[in-house]
Amino acid sequence: MTLYLYNTAKRQKEEFVPLEPGKAGMYVCGPTVYDFAHIGNARPVVVFDVLYRLLRHLGFDVTYVRNITDVDDKIITAARENGESIEALTLRTAKAFQDDMAALNALSPTFEPRATEHIGGMIEMIAALIEKGHAYEASGHVLFDVTSMADYGALSGRNRDEMIAGARVEVAPYKKDPADFILWKPSDADVPGWDSPWGRGRPGWHIECSVMSKAKLGVTFDIHGGGRDLIFPHHENEVAQSRCAHDGAPFARYWVHNGFLMVEGKKMSKSLGNFYTVRELLAEAPGEALRMNMLSTHYRQPLDWTASGLKAAKASLDRLYTALQKLAEVEAGPAVPSPEVLAALLDDLNTPQALAALNALAGEANKATDAAEKARLKGELLGSGALLGLLAMSADDWFRGGSDANAGGCLSNAEIEAEIEARLAARKAKDFARADAIRDALAAKGIILEDGPGGTTWKRA
Ligand code: AMP
Ligand code: ZN
Repeated sequence: MTLYLYNTAKRQKEEFVPLEPGKAGMYVCGPTVYDFAHIGNARPVVVFDVLYRLLRHLGFDVTYVRNITDVDDKIITAARENGESIEALTLRTAKAFQDDMAALNALSPTFEPRATEHIGGMIEMIAALIEKGHAYEASGHVLFDVTSMADYGALSGRNRDEMIAGARVEVAPYKKDPADFILWKPSDADVPGWDSPWGRGRPGWHIECSVMSKAKLGVTFDIHGGGRDLIFPHHENEVAQSRCAHDGAPFARYWVHNGFLMVEGKKMSKSLGNFYTVRELLAEAPGEALRMNMLSTHYRQPLDWTASGLKAAKASLDRLYTALQKLAEVEAGPAVPSPEVLAALLDDLNTPQALAALNALAGEANKATDAAEKARLKGELLGSGALLGLLAMSADDWFRGGSDANAGGCLSNAEIEAEIEARLAARKAKDFARADAIRDALAAKGIILEDGPGGTTWKRA
């Protein structure tokens, strides 16, 4: 079984051959933690979660690293605005990020290093770059000298003028070349800073990822991922720092980039203000529906986020879970992905095709009459779902609006069950007005009660 991935560095799909047989190392740029993540930030998380699941399914021993950037000027500004300490802000928002991503069924990475835990490594790499003639100190800053690297710009394929424009460099008199970028900058007493050979200061953003990837995956590793907005300057600069600090040794071997999540033709971003947080969307729809909507577009294509798309994603999950519900009494065969679902994912993570194959499987399951056939199809539905991070709950939980862990509604399952108990107690006490009031209050929240011989059951409307 061969996995093909589109490698940005080579501008073509390539067979994935790991550095070390049986192992795969993957680094994905994680969030800068100062606020809730928007659904655009979740796109790389979901995309690389599918790749992580696929690599594991193929038998690789995968080390998946996704960093947390917890030192950044946006963090300093947000902490000031909130009147919150930087530590409290980064801990709170990193936790919110992890919770939101878990609600999208994203598995935890093997390592989630925080930039502030790796300052020593950053100082070391910067010192090596200075020593090797690739960086220089100027006015308390340390800058990377782009003219010292012959093939600077190769990853993004930008020419010099584009690089200077794209780097959005502020006019800084201490730069030898306008495209030079910051490795270290001075910190005033009231902002986070660490002692270094260049005075008290803090790292630039790019050096963080060069150092954290090296710490967890080594100098050369297999896959580096992130959104396509990071190709330049962030990833270009990571390549420059890492290769120059290690005498030209290769850095990441496969560069994989997801396309943008868009709103009405524009990239969703904090700065444009055209964003929905994952948190607010989770109050409207189950995490699996958000994930399904995300996966219904190929990861390299732009994805327009719309209410109708989300509704359609939820409806297709309803259909898949209905097929599973019909097989409730069937003991599932081995939970392995169907060959069609697997083949689609092996071809550069073609999730729309994989979802079409999953739907076809549900169609077959609906028609199946033979017991062995039903068992096989149930196993393949569950196995294919697991590879995509879908169908993770029971059909009953799905139709009740999710398990307690990610209930999308305003009442959790436990709260609903407590209300049903209270209604039962009221009926026993012949307080029928109260019992009816409880039923009506639940109905107003979209919870439908059904009284039967075995007691009261409920579902979300
Ligand atoms: P940031 O916190 O802006 O550095 O973004 C964290 C991750 O989310 C990076 O991998 C970005 O490329 C990605 N990202 C941010 N906005 C979008 C978007 N609208 N669509 C897809 N990916 C995005
Ligand atoms: Zn990065």
